[in-house]
Amino acid sequence: MDKHLIEFKNVFKTFDSDEVLSNINFHINENEFLTLLGPSGCGKSTLLRIIAGFESPTSGNVYFEGNDLSSIAPYERKVNTVFQKYALFPHLDVYDNIAFGLRIKKLDSKEIDAKVKKVLDMVNLSGFEKRTVSSLSGGQQQRIAIARAIVNEPKVLLLDEPLAALDLKLRKGMQLELKNMQRELGITFIYVTHDQEEALTMSDTVVVMKNGTIQQIGKPTDIYNEPVNAYVADFIGESNIISGVMKKDCLVNIMGIDMDCVDTGFDTDENVDVVIRPEDVRISEVDDAMICGVVESVIFKGVHYEMVIVSDDFKWLVHDTAKYDIGKKVSLFVKPFDIHIMKKS
Ligand code: ADP
Ligand code: MG
Repeated sequence: MDKHLIEFKNVFKTFDSDEVLSNINFHINENEFLTLLGPSGCGKSTLLRIIAGFESPTSGNVYFEGNDLSSIAPYERKVNTVFQKYALFPHLDVYDNIAFGLRIKKLDSKEIDAKVKKVLDMVNLSGFEKRTVSSLSGGQQQRIAIARAIVNEPKVLLLDEPLAALDLKLRKGMQLELKNMQRELGITFIYVTHDQEEALTMSDTVVVMKNGTIQQIGKPTDIYNEPVNAYVADFIGESNIISGVMKKDCLVNIMGIDMDCVDTGFDTDENVDVVIRPEDVRISEVDDAMICGVVESVIFKGVHYEMVIVSDDFKWLVHDTAKYDIGKKVSLFVKPFDIHIMKKS
């Protein structure tokens, strides 16, 4: 069985009278790469800061290896944090930045040397020891910040949007590096991001948050394929979200059309949200389909075209490798399996 390393029990956090975390309950397993995902302001950093000890819960408890964190001083916690802003010491060179924490711990200089070399190698910056911080690129500075955190051999590395300031290509490369580093180190990573693609790429477990609450916890594939509500579905990937009515098991009515689906267990005539992914909508030129529409826009996205197709005032977002020109009349099909029915949230 997985070992619960950190556990949140009924945690609330309020600032003034604002509740920014509401009844948070979940656990983080040892050696897991867990990502807190949600829009700006939903409480991700606050949750991370509670683990680090920069904030305390207003009520509720957090346990680390079974011990209540409130009884463990921040500096005694086996965690290190990497922030979006690198927070390196500008007056120290790369070596001294990384060695800083080890010197405070009064390790001897040979040991420090060995550890600094090892982590510099891990972040692919061997030979950069004497460089000044200001001579490094953003990506290199972020690597040094990571090196400085992992050199302390924490049990848990907390990463608060560490790649947000990097450009897209560098970010993609660093995502893979971080994932490899986590495997190599065999430690727990708790990662914060508002970028769903980043969360899905890197994580073992994704925790989707909204307004201080947890909406869903699961593996990336589960969150993508089985979102629990329209909010998660929409946040995790662009989706078509349409109000519908469940006529009976496996039959939903959207926009006046009865459509076969595979969902059961709803009340007769229950109002639902119907979620259909853009890649699951099939376009054809024949006009015998139930849904007909007109192409409003086409954007080339590399592998596929992203098209908006207007039908009865609803704008369908559709991905297809074939291109359909603006103004063209088309028909849309969706397989029953690709129609996801969600309870109204
Ligand atoms: P996220 O990291 O998801 O963007 P945060 O955890 O930083 O969200 O913030 C959640 C909410 O708490 C926001 O509304 C923010 O303004 C508020 N908040 C965060 N820290 C403080 C603080 N020290 N004092 C008052 N409000 C705060
Ligand atoms: Mg934040």
